[in-house]
Amino acid sequence: MSSNALQQIVCCMGQPVAGNPTQFMMERAFAAAKLDWRYLTLEVPPEKLADAVRGMRAMGFQGGNFTIPHKVAVLPLLDGLSPAAELMGAVNCVHRDGDRLLGANTDGQGFLESLRTLIDPVDKRIVILGAGGAARAIAVEVALTKPAELSIVNRSPGRGQELANLLSERTQVAVHYVPWEGDYAIPETADVLINATSIGLGDANARVPIDPRTLRSTLVVADVIFNPPRTRLIRDAAEAGCPTIDGLGMLVNQAVIGFKIWTGVAPDPDVMREALEEYLEI
Ligand code: NDP
Repeated sequence: MSSNALQQIVCCMGQPVAGNPTQFMMERAFAAAKLDWRYLTLEVPPEKLADAVRGMRAMGFQGGNFTIPHKVAVLPLLDGLSPAAELMGAVNCVHRDGDRLLGANTDGQGFLESLRTLIDPVDKRIVILGAGGAARAIAVEVALTKPAELSIVNRSPGRGQELANLLSERTQVAVHYVPWEGDYAIPETADVLINATSIGLGDANARVPIDPRTLRSTLVVADVIFNPPRTRLIRDAAEAGCPTIDGLGMLVNQAVIGFKIWTGVAPDPDVMREALEEYLEI
Protein backbone atom coordinates (compact mmCIF):
# COMPACT_ATOMS: atom_id res chain seq x y z
CA MET A 1 0.00 0.00 0.00
CA SER A 2 1.19 3.50 -0.78
CA SER A 3 2.38 5.34 2.34
CA ASN A 4 2.37 8.91 1.02
CA ALA A 5 -0.87 9.03 -1.04
CA LEU A 6 -4.02 10.27 0.68
CA GLN A 7 -6.14 7.41 1.96
CA GLN A 8 -9.42 7.20 0.00
CA ILE A 9 -12.75 6.89 1.77
CA VAL A 10 -16.08 5.39 0.73
CA CYS A 11 -18.97 5.00 3.13
CA CYS A 12 -22.32 3.39 3.77
CA MET A 13 -25.12 5.64 5.00
CA GLY A 14 -28.23 4.14 6.53
CA GLN A 15 -30.32 4.03 9.65
CA PRO A 16 -30.04 2.26 11.94
CA VAL A 17 -26.74 0.65 11.00
CA ALA A 18 -26.06 -2.27 13.29
CA GLY A 19 -22.87 -3.73 11.88
CA ASN A 20 -22.45 -4.07 8.16
CA PRO A 21 -21.48 -7.17 6.19
CA THR A 22 -20.62 -4.96 3.22
CA GLN A 23 -18.01 -3.07 5.26
CA PHE A 24 -16.38 -6.35 6.23
CA MET A 25 -16.33 -7.53 2.58
CA MET A 26 -15.07 -4.23 1.18
CA GLU A 27 -12.24 -3.80 3.66
CA ARG A 28 -11.03 -7.36 2.99
CA ALA A 29 -11.19 -6.70 -0.76
CA PHE A 30 -9.31 -3.37 -0.45
CA ALA A 31 -6.57 -5.12 1.50
CA ALA A 32 -6.42 -8.01 -1.00
CA ALA A 33 -6.14 -5.51 -3.89
CA LYS A 34 -3.47 -3.56 -1.94
CA LEU A 35 -5.56 -0.40 -2.07
CA ASP A 36 -5.23 2.11 0.77
CA TRP A 37 -8.99 2.66 0.97
CA ARG A 38 -11.43 2.56 3.88
CA TYR A 39 -15.18 1.80 3.96
CA LEU A 40 -16.96 3.60 6.79
CA THR A 41 -20.38 2.59 8.10
CA LEU A 42 -22.21 5.78 9.14
CA GLU A 43 -25.58 6.01 10.84
CA VAL A 44 -27.35 9.01 9.29
CA PRO A 45 -30.92 9.99 10.27
CA PRO A 46 -33.20 11.11 7.41
CA GLU A 47 -33.19 14.79 8.46
CA LYS A 48 -29.37 14.86 8.35
CA LEU A 49 -28.96 13.23 4.92
CA ALA A 50 -28.41 16.48 3.00
CA ASP A 51 -25.74 17.61 5.51
CA ALA A 52 -24.10 14.18 5.31
CA VAL A 53 -23.91 14.33 1.48
CA ARG A 54 -22.45 17.87 1.71
CA GLY A 55 -19.93 16.39 4.15
CA MET A 56 -19.04 13.65 1.64
CA ARG A 57 -18.36 16.33 -0.95
CA ALA A 58 -16.35 18.53 1.46
CA MET A 59 -14.23 15.64 2.73
CA GLY A 60 -13.53 14.24 -0.73
CA PHE A 61 -15.13 10.83 -0.18
CA GLN A 62 -14.93 8.77 -3.38
CA GLY A 63 -18.50 7.53 -3.01
CA GLY A 64 -20.72 5.36 -0.93
CA ASN A 65 -23.62 2.98 -0.54
CA PHE A 66 -27.01 4.31 0.51
CA THR A 67 -29.35 1.94 2.30
CA ILE A 68 -32.77 2.14 3.94
CA PRO A 69 -34.15 4.83 4.37
CA HIS A 70 -32.01 6.92 2.00
CA LYS A 71 -32.23 5.12 -1.38
CA VAL A 72 -34.90 7.47 -2.74
CA ALA A 73 -34.23 10.58 -0.63
CA VAL A 74 -30.65 10.86 -1.90
CA LEU A 75 -31.71 11.38 -5.55
CA PRO A 76 -32.18 15.19 -5.49
CA LEU A 77 -28.84 15.58 -3.69
CA LEU A 78 -26.88 14.09 -6.61
CA ASP A 79 -25.59 15.57 -9.88
CA GLY A 80 -26.61 12.74 -12.20
CA LEU A 81 -28.09 9.22 -12.37
CA SER A 82 -27.48 6.08 -14.41
CA PRO A 83 -30.43 5.27 -16.74
CA ALA A 84 -31.43 2.24 -14.61
CA ALA A 85 -31.30 4.24 -11.34
CA GLU A 86 -33.42 6.93 -12.99
CA LEU A 87 -35.98 4.30 -14.03
CA MET A 88 -35.98 2.67 -10.58
CA GLY A 89 -36.14 6.00 -8.77
CA ALA A 90 -33.64 4.62 -6.26
CA VAL A 91 -29.88 4.76 -5.78
CA ASN A 92 -27.75 2.46 -3.66
CA CYS A 93 -24.30 3.36 -4.99
CA VAL A 94 -22.80 6.84 -5.45
CA HIS A 95 -19.45 7.63 -6.99
CA ARG A 96 -17.43 10.76 -7.58
CA ASP A 97 -16.56 12.05 -11.04
CA GLY A 98 -14.44 15.15 -10.45
CA ASP A 99 -16.68 17.36 -8.32
CA ARG A 100 -19.88 15.54 -9.33
CA LEU A 101 -21.59 12.84 -7.31
CA LEU A 102 -23.33 10.31 -9.59
CA GLY A 103 -25.92 7.73 -8.55
CA ALA A 104 -26.30 4.14 -9.75
CA ASN A 105 -28.16 1.09 -8.52
CA THR A 106 -26.17 -2.11 -8.26
CA ASP A 107 -28.79 -4.27 -6.48
CA GLY A 108 -30.58 -5.35 -9.66
CA GLN A 109 -27.34 -5.91 -11.61
CA GLY A 110 -25.94 -7.93 -8.72
CA PHE A 111 -29.06 -10.08 -8.72
CA LEU A 112 -28.96 -10.55 -12.50
CA GLU A 113 -25.37 -11.82 -12.35
CA SER A 114 -26.45 -14.40 -9.78
CA LEU A 115 -29.49 -15.41 -11.84
CA ARG A 116 -27.43 -15.83 -14.99
CA THR A 117 -25.35 -18.53 -13.29
CA LEU A 118 -28.49 -20.72 -13.67
CA ILE A 119 -30.70 -19.17 -16.35
CA ASP A 120 -30.74 -16.26 -18.82
CA PRO A 121 -33.97 -14.26 -18.31
CA VAL A 122 -34.22 -13.31 -22.00
CA ASP A 123 -37.56 -14.63 -23.40
CA LYS A 124 -38.42 -16.30 -20.07
CA ARG A 125 -41.53 -15.91 -17.90
CA ILE A 126 -40.52 -14.29 -14.63
CA VAL A 127 -42.53 -13.86 -11.41
CA ILE A 128 -41.34 -11.34 -8.81
CA LEU A 129 -42.82 -11.42 -5.32
CA GLY A 130 -42.70 -7.91 -3.82
CA ALA A 131 -42.68 -4.33 -5.07
CA GLY A 132 -40.37 -2.61 -2.57
CA GLY A 133 -36.85 -1.28 -3.20
CA ALA A 134 -35.18 -4.64 -3.94
CA ALA A 135 -38.07 -5.77 -6.15
CA ARG A 136 -38.00 -2.50 -8.12
CA ALA A 137 -34.26 -2.78 -8.73
CA ILE A 138 -34.57 -6.41 -9.85
CA ALA A 139 -37.71 -5.80 -11.94
CA VAL A 140 -36.07 -2.95 -13.88
CA GLU A 141 -32.88 -4.91 -14.65
CA VAL A 142 -34.86 -8.04 -15.56
CA ALA A 143 -37.23 -6.00 -17.78
CA LEU A 144 -34.23 -4.46 -19.58
CA THR A 145 -33.10 -7.98 -20.59
CA LYS A 146 -36.43 -8.45 -22.48
CA PRO A 147 -38.10 -11.42 -20.79
CA ALA A 148 -41.24 -12.87 -22.45
CA GLU A 149 -43.40 -11.84 -19.49
CA LEU A 150 -42.97 -10.27 -16.05
CA SER A 151 -45.50 -10.65 -13.23
CA ILE A 152 -45.31 -8.45 -10.13
CA VAL A 153 -47.07 -10.12 -7.21
CA ASN A 154 -47.51 -7.82 -4.22
CA ARG A 155 -49.62 -7.59 -1.09
CA SER A 156 -50.28 -3.83 -1.36
CA PRO A 157 -52.01 -3.13 -4.69
CA GLY A 158 -50.79 0.49 -4.86
CA ARG A 159 -47.08 -0.35 -4.93
CA GLY A 160 -47.53 -3.43 -7.12
CA GLN A 161 -49.68 -1.70 -9.73
CA GLU A 162 -47.43 1.37 -9.80
CA LEU A 163 -44.34 -0.76 -10.52
CA ALA A 164 -46.15 -2.74 -13.21
CA ASN A 165 -47.41 0.50 -14.83
CA LEU A 166 -43.94 2.06 -14.77
CA LEU A 167 -42.34 -0.96 -16.46
CA SER A 168 -45.14 -1.24 -19.03
CA GLU A 169 -44.74 2.43 -19.95
CA ARG A 170 -40.95 2.54 -20.01
CA THR A 171 -39.99 -0.89 -21.40
CA GLN A 172 -41.32 -3.06 -24.23
CA VAL A 173 -42.12 -5.96 -21.88
CA ALA A 174 -45.55 -7.41 -21.02
CA VAL A 175 -45.79 -6.65 -17.28
CA HIS A 176 -48.77 -7.60 -15.11
CA TYR A 177 -49.64 -6.80 -11.52
CA VAL A 178 -51.08 -9.78 -9.63
CA PRO A 179 -52.79 -9.12 -6.28
CA TRP A 180 -51.37 -11.36 -3.54
CA GLU A 181 -54.22 -12.91 -1.60
CA GLY A 182 -53.75 -16.14 0.36
CA ASP A 183 -51.26 -18.68 -1.00
CA TYR A 184 -50.03 -17.66 -4.45
CA ALA A 185 -50.24 -20.44 -7.05
CA ILE A 186 -47.17 -20.19 -9.28
CA PRO A 187 -48.33 -20.43 -12.93
CA GLU A 188 -47.25 -23.59 -14.75
CA THR A 189 -45.72 -21.44 -17.48
CA ALA A 190 -43.34 -19.59 -15.11
CA ASP A 191 -39.60 -20.19 -15.60
CA VAL A 192 -38.30 -18.16 -12.63
CA LEU A 193 -39.75 -17.21 -9.22
CA ILE A 194 -37.98 -14.46 -7.27
CA ASN A 195 -38.76 -13.66 -3.64
CA ALA A 196 -37.90 -9.96 -3.38
CA THR A 197 -39.96 -9.38 -0.22
CA SER A 198 -38.43 -9.06 3.24
CA ILE A 199 -40.11 -12.31 4.38
CA GLY A 200 -37.41 -14.57 5.80
CA LEU A 201 -35.04 -11.84 6.97
CA GLY A 202 -33.66 -13.01 10.30
CA ASP A 203 -36.15 -15.91 10.49
CA ALA A 204 -35.22 -19.20 8.82
CA ASN A 205 -38.76 -20.54 9.31
CA ALA A 206 -40.73 -17.55 7.98
CA ARG A 207 -43.12 -18.75 5.29
CA VAL A 208 -43.54 -16.97 1.95
CA PRO A 209 -47.27 -17.47 1.17
CA ILE A 210 -47.09 -19.61 -1.94
CA ASP A 211 -48.83 -22.90 -2.71
CA PRO A 212 -45.93 -25.38 -2.26
CA ARG A 213 -47.60 -27.85 -4.65
CA THR A 214 -46.89 -25.39 -7.49
CA LEU A 215 -43.09 -25.60 -7.01
CA ARG A 216 -41.95 -27.70 -10.00
CA SER A 217 -38.46 -28.97 -10.77
CA THR A 218 -38.29 -26.88 -13.98
CA LEU A 219 -38.75 -23.63 -12.01
CA VAL A 220 -35.67 -21.65 -10.92
CA VAL A 221 -36.30 -20.19 -7.44
CA ALA A 222 -34.28 -17.20 -6.21
CA ASP A 223 -34.42 -15.43 -2.85
CA VAL A 224 -32.96 -11.98 -2.04
CA ILE A 225 -32.71 -12.83 1.65
CA PHE A 226 -29.07 -13.42 2.60
CA ASN A 227 -29.37 -13.74 6.37
CA PRO A 228 -30.05 -16.56 6.83
CA PRO A 229 -29.28 -17.72 3.26
CA ARG A 230 -31.08 -21.10 3.58
CA THR A 231 -34.55 -19.60 3.86
CA ARG A 232 -37.63 -21.78 4.15
CA LEU A 233 -38.47 -20.94 0.52
CA ILE A 234 -35.03 -22.04 -0.67
CA ARG A 235 -35.26 -25.26 1.37
CA ASP A 236 -38.80 -26.06 0.15
CA ALA A 237 -37.83 -25.32 -3.45
CA ALA A 238 -34.71 -27.50 -3.26
CA GLU A 239 -36.81 -30.31 -1.82
CA ALA A 240 -39.19 -29.98 -4.79
CA GLY A 241 -36.19 -30.35 -7.13
CA CYS A 242 -35.98 -26.67 -8.20
CA PRO A 243 -32.58 -25.13 -8.96
CA THR A 244 -32.13 -22.39 -6.31
CA ILE A 245 -30.21 -19.14 -5.82
CA ASP A 246 -29.77 -17.59 -2.36
CA GLY A 247 -29.29 -13.89 -1.56
CA LEU A 248 -25.56 -14.14 -0.80
CA GLY A 249 -24.55 -14.06 -4.47
CA MET A 250 -26.55 -10.86 -5.05
CA LEU A 251 -24.91 -9.19 -2.05
CA VAL A 252 -21.41 -10.18 -3.17
CA ASN A 253 -22.08 -9.20 -6.80
CA GLN A 254 -23.47 -5.75 -5.97
CA ALA A 255 -20.39 -5.16 -3.81
CA VAL A 256 -18.09 -6.30 -6.65
CA ILE A 257 -19.81 -3.84 -9.01
CA GLY A 258 -19.58 -0.98 -6.47
CA PHE A 259 -15.89 -1.71 -5.83
CA LYS A 260 -15.16 -1.50 -9.58
CA ILE A 261 -17.16 1.74 -9.96
CA TRP A 262 -15.26 3.43 -7.10
CA THR A 263 -11.72 2.18 -7.62
CA GLY A 264 -11.57 1.17 -11.30
CA VAL A 265 -10.10 -2.13 -10.10
CA ALA A 266 -11.82 -5.55 -10.32
CA PRO A 267 -11.82 -7.13 -6.83
CA ASP A 268 -11.47 -10.84 -6.11
CA PRO A 269 -15.09 -12.07 -5.65
CA ASP A 270 -13.89 -15.16 -3.74
CA VAL A 271 -12.23 -12.95 -1.12
CA MET A 272 -15.51 -11.05 -0.75
CA ARG A 273 -17.68 -14.17 -0.53
CA GLU A 274 -15.35 -15.71 2.09
CA ALA A 275 -15.40 -12.48 4.12
CA LEU A 276 -19.20 -12.40 3.95
CA GLU A 277 -19.52 -16.01 5.07
CA GLU A 278 -17.08 -15.35 7.92
CA TYR A 279 -19.05 -12.25 8.99
CA LEU A 280 -22.36 -14.12 8.88
CA GLU A 281 -20.78 -17.17 10.55
CA ILE A 282 -22.01 -19.52 7.84
P1 NDP B 1 -39.08 -2.81 1.28
O1 NDP B 1 -39.53 -2.53 2.68
O2 NDP B 1 -38.90 -1.69 0.32
O3 NDP B 1 -40.12 -3.84 0.58
C1 NDP B 1 -40.55 -4.99 1.26
C2 NDP B 1 -41.45 -5.82 0.34
O4 NDP B 1 -41.80 -7.02 1.04
C3 NDP B 1 -42.75 -5.15 -0.05
O5 NDP B 1 -43.12 -5.53 -1.36
C4 NDP B 1 -43.74 -5.73 0.98
O6 NDP B 1 -45.08 -5.72 0.51
C5 NDP B 1 -43.24 -7.14 1.06
N1 NDP B 1 -43.63 -7.80 2.29
C6 NDP B 1 -43.10 -7.64 3.53
N2 NDP B 1 -43.72 -8.44 4.42
C7 NDP B 1 -44.66 -9.14 3.71
C8 NDP B 1 -45.62 -10.13 4.06
N3 NDP B 1 -45.73 -10.59 5.31
N4 NDP B 1 -46.42 -10.64 3.07
C9 NDP B 1 -46.30 -10.20 1.80
N5 NDP B 1 -45.41 -9.25 1.41
C10 NDP B 1 -44.62 -8.73 2.36
O7 NDP B 1 -37.73 -3.64 1.44
P2 NDP B 1 -36.59 -3.83 0.34
O8 NDP B 1 -37.22 -4.12 -0.96
O9 NDP B 1 -35.60 -2.73 0.41
O10 NDP B 1 -35.85 -5.13 0.89
C11 NDP B 1 -36.48 -6.41 0.81
C12 NDP B 1 -35.47 -7.45 1.25
O11 NDP B 1 -34.42 -7.54 0.29
C13 NDP B 1 -34.81 -7.14 2.58
O12 NDP B 1 -34.96 -8.25 3.43
C14 NDP B 1 -33.35 -6.94 2.24
O13 NDP B 1 -32.50 -7.46 3.24
C15 NDP B 1 -33.20 -7.74 0.96
N6 NDP B 1 -32.13 -7.22 0.11
C16 NDP B 1 -31.14 -8.09 -0.23
C17 NDP B 1 -30.10 -7.65 -1.01
C18 NDP B 1 -29.00 -8.61 -1.37
O14 NDP B 1 -27.97 -8.14 -1.85
N7 NDP B 1 -29.18 -9.91 -1.18
C19 NDP B 1 -30.00 -6.26 -1.51
C20 NDP B 1 -31.14 -5.44 -1.13
C21 NDP B 1 -32.15 -5.92 -0.33
P3 NDP B 1 -46.03 -4.42 0.69
O15 NDP B 1 -45.71 -3.50 -0.44
O16 NDP B 1 -47.39 -5.01 0.63
O17 NDP B 1 -45.70 -3.84 2.05
